[in-house]
Amino acid sequence: MLNITTGQQEVIDLILLFPGFVISGILIYVKIISIIEKEYRAAKVSFLLSIILFAPFLIIYLFDFPFKEIASMGLLAVVVLVAILLFFPFRPKIKACLPDRQGGFQIPAEKHDERNVMFSRNELIPGTEKFDLYYSKNPDKREPDDKFRDNPGLLSPDSVFYHPFSFASAEANLEIIEAFKPIVNGVVNESKTVVEEKKVSDYIKTWAKKLGAYSVGITELKDYHLYSHKGRGDLYGKEINNKHKFAIAFTIEMDSDMIRTAPKGPVVMESTQQYLNSGTIALQIAHFIRNLGYSARAHIDGNYELICPLVARDAGLGEIGRMGLLMTPQLGSRVRIAVITTDIPLVLDKKKDFSSIIDFCGICKKCAEVCPSQSIPFNNREQINGVLRWKINSESCFTYWGTAGTDCGKCMAACPYSHPDNLIHNFIRWGINNSYIFRRFALYMDDLFYGRKPKSGNLPSWIDM
Ligand code: SF4
Ligand code: SF4
Repeated sequence: MLNITTGQQEVIDLILLFPGFVISGILIYVKIISIIEKEYRAAKVSFLLSIILFAPFLIIYLFDFPFKEIASMGLLAVVVLVAILLFFPFRPKIKACLPDRQGGFQIPAEKHDERNVMFSRNELIPGTEKFDLYYSKNPDKREPDDKFRDNPGLLSPDSVFYHPFSFASAEANLEIIEAFKPIVNGVVNESKTVVEEKKVSDYIKTWAKKLGAYSVGITELKDYHLYSHKGRGDLYGKEINNKHKFAIAFTIEMDSDMIRTAPKGPVVMESTQQYLNSGTIALQIAHFIRNLGYSARAHIDGNYELICPLVARDAGLGEIGRMGLLMTPQLGSRVRIAVITTDIPLVLDKKKDFSSIIDFCGICKKCAEVCPSQSIPFNNREQINGVLRWKINSESCFTYWGTAGTDCGKCMAACPYSHPDNLIHNFIRWGINNSYIFRRFALYMDDLFYGRKPKSGNLPSWIDM
C-alpha cells in the first residue's frame, strides 16, 4: 500500500484531472472541427470518446474507493506511457523502404512513352491511320481500350454522375487550358540578365507561393523524367528532346470539400480548376524566365514532356504512394502538379526521406478498399521497370472514369493524408511522419472516425441547386 496522506491524495487527484481535461478538450475541439467539415461520423465519435476517456479521471477525482491511490497512479502511468509511445520519434529502419534509399532514388530502366498513357489512347480515333498503327504495335492494349470506348466517356451527359453545371464548368476549364498550349514555350529575350542562383531560386519559389502554389522544389532535369515521345496533340509521335538543366516543380492544393464529393461532378470541376491554376502559374514563371533571357518551358495539363510526379518527388515534394500519385507529407495526393524546365541557374533542393509515407501506405490500403474498379493493388511494392513501386491498373481506372463521367478521385478522398489543412489534421500528419507507432494508431483512429470506406460527401449547396 502506498503511504499517501489525504492532502497529498487531493493534490494528485487534481493533477490527474488535468490530462483528462486536456484529452477531452482536444476531442471536443475535434468534434467542432468535424461539424464544420460536415464529417458527422467523426463528430459523433469524438464526442463519445471525450466522455469515455474523461470518465476514469472524473471517477477518481470524485469518489473514494479501495486502492484509489493505486488506481490514480496507474492511470497517470498509462497517460505518460501512451504519450511516450505516440510522440517519441520511433523511426526503425523500414525494410520496405530500404531499396529506394541505397544511393538515392531508383531510376526507371526505360523511359515512358506518352503514347501509352490513357489520355493519349483516349484521343485515338477508330478508323484513322494513327489508331490502326498504335494497336498494330500494341495489340495487348486493344481489348482494354475497347472497353473504355464502350462507355459514355469523361464529362458525357450519359454518364452516371452527369451534372450539367459542374460538367460545364470542367469543360470551361479544359477549354481555357487548351488555349494555353501555344504559349508553353516562347521567344527568349535576347538580352540576358545576369542572375544570382540563390536569389532567383528564392524569388521564383516565393512568387509561386504568392500565386497559389502550396510547395515548390527544384531538381536537376534527368533523362528518366522525360517521356520518350509525345502522345497528345499535333506533335503526336515526336521524339522528346528537352535539354534543359533544371526542373522547378510545384504543387497546388485541391479543395477538400470538393474532393470529398468524389466521384461526383465537383471532383472533376476541382481537378480541372487546379490544372488550370497550376498551368497559369507555370506559364507565368516560364514567361518570367524567358524575359530574363533564359530558355524555359511550362509543362501543364495535356501538354507535358515529362512525368510530373517523378520530377516533384526528386525535387523533394513527396513520394510516390500506393495509388501511383505523388503523396505530399502535408496534403497527400490532394494536389495538382506543374513543372517548368529551364536553363536559368538555380539552387537544387535536397532529396528528402519520405519513407514514413511508404510505410504508412504499406499498412493503410484505404484507397485500394474504396476503389470502385479495384484498380489499386493491395500487395507490397513490386519491381516494375527497374523501380520498386505500386502500379495501379490504369485501364480499369480510366474505364470507370468513362462510366462515372468524372475523374473519380475516390482514392484521393479516402486517403488519411487528404484531410483539410488545419491544426488538428496537420498535427496528425506530423505524427504520421514522426513515429512508426503513431502511424499505426493514426490509421486505427482514421478508420474509427471516418470509416474504413468513407462515404462520398454531399454536393456543396451552391453547386447542388
Ligand atoms: S489511402 Fe492509404 S494506402 Fe492509399 S495512398 Fe493514402 S495513405 Fe497510401
Ligand atoms: S480514381 Fe477512382 S477508379 Fe481510379 S484508382 Fe482512384 S478510386 Fe480507383
